[in-house]
Amino acid sequence: MRANNLHMADIAHMVHQQTDLDAHGREGAVLIAKGDGVHVVDSEGRRYIEAMAGLWCASLGFSEKRLADAAYKQLLELPYYHTFFQKGHEPSVRLAEKLVEMAPGDLSHVMFQCSGSEANDAAIKVIWYYNNLRGKPAKKKLIGRIRGYHGNTVATASLSGQPHMQADFDLPYGDRFLHISNPHYYRFHEAGETERDFSARMAAELEALIEREGADTIAAFFAEPVQGGGGAITPPEGYFDLIQPILKKHDILFVADEVICGFGRTGNLWGSETYGITPDILTCAKQLTAAYQPLSATLISRPIQEALVAGSKKHGSFGHGFTYGGHPVACAVGLETLAIYEERDMVGHVRAVAPAFLNGLGAFRDHPLVGDVRGVGLIAGVELMADKASRTPFAPSRKVGVLVQNKCHEAGLIVRAIGDRIAFTPPLIITEAEIQDMCHRFREGLDAAWAELG
Ligand code: PLP
Repeated sequence: MRANNLHMADIAHMVHQQTDLDAHGREGAVLIAKGDGVHVVDSEGRRYIEAMAGLWCASLGFSEKRLADAAYKQLLELPYYHTFFQKGHEPSVRLAEKLVEMAPGDLSHVMFQCSGSEANDAAIKVIWYYNNLRGKPAKKKLIGRIRGYHGNTVATASLSGQPHMQADFDLPYGDRFLHISNPHYYRFHEAGETERDFSARMAAELEALIEREGADTIAAFFAEPVQGGGGAITPPEGYFDLIQPILKKHDILFVADEVICGFGRTGNLWGSETYGITPDILTCAKQLTAAYQPLSATLISRPIQEALVAGSKKHGSFGHGFTYGGHPVACAVGLETLAIYEERDMVGHVRAVAPAFLNGLGAFRDHPLVGDVRGVGLIAGVELMADKASRTPFAPSRKVGVLVQNKCHEAGLIVRAIGDRIAFTPPLIITEAEIQDMCHRFREGLDAAWAELG
């Protein structure tokens, strides 16, 4: 246990999120004290490359002064106002206008919240409302994917396919949440099955589920273009091309959860662009403000907006809203973040450094612990395997992913183990030299884990 007052107070009073609280009670936590560029420094002065950009979000690194200045300026001008009761303020209007201009497909209106979970939760509420207002009250079920991740609220944790976030929370709640297979080609393809064949099998499973449940009971399908919390899993070839026509045919909305992929992560502004997705609703957060303020957005299409207006005619108002939804300081920081992305051509930068990132990590395919490496833009997953030839994973009880994560930590590299997949999503500003340093530290961590596994 780290024996200083801060660590003792942390153990005594903090409920850490997504943490083994038993281990925390014994060992405490690493407390991060400051950051610069792609690096963070802990309370004991150890410096790390933050190859997860925090939680897939600190796109501009940890020392972008322009964002601090934008927040301070807005705090002096108008530190708070809401968007209830036909009132509002310029930063939220300007940001909504900008997001609609940037959005893929035909999205026309924006709802603001503070987190990705709330963005998806709001999408769920709006979908149910929309189907009631358009006279389809039975069309309410939502389809998510095993290992998909859409948030922490009762509804979004139900929609997610993460068993550890449901067990003993009495989730999924109710009977409106359905799940289809995880399209993780490397892990689940059958011998001789191509990526396209695998995608066709996934699409057939979706269609069978819709037919079994009845299309008139299913409202929407939610998908992350690249699955983040499931392990940084890129979709197999043709997957979204095959899925979208099935949804269209059955009048099922496509919600693109761009909470991780949005704003350049995949080498395009949106993951939807990378994979040819035309969403009816798009949710985003995280890199929207480079994580310097909590802010999320739910972008909806005009027919959905028209249903919300019809709802106001029926009920007197749109009965939904958050005190801090569209907070002016968060929106001002969002506007400055998007301005920086444009001025610095952040998407161009991601494309320029992506080969160094993907090839650098790809080289680890030769490592005895690594079965597969896949990614796009600046997101990648490295899959650890007990036996590569037969694609046999390690027994989960051996916690090999956590071992690698810890050895990387000792080598000054923060990565995340999701089961036995090691996820990488560095800040978008990372340079080629920093990518080389990241790969060097990863090798140190992997070799140390390999040595310990003996
Ligand atoms: N959707 C996706 C794809 C995410 O990765 C996350 C968080 O990691 C969320 C939703 C939830 O966002 P938040 O933690 O801001 O509530």
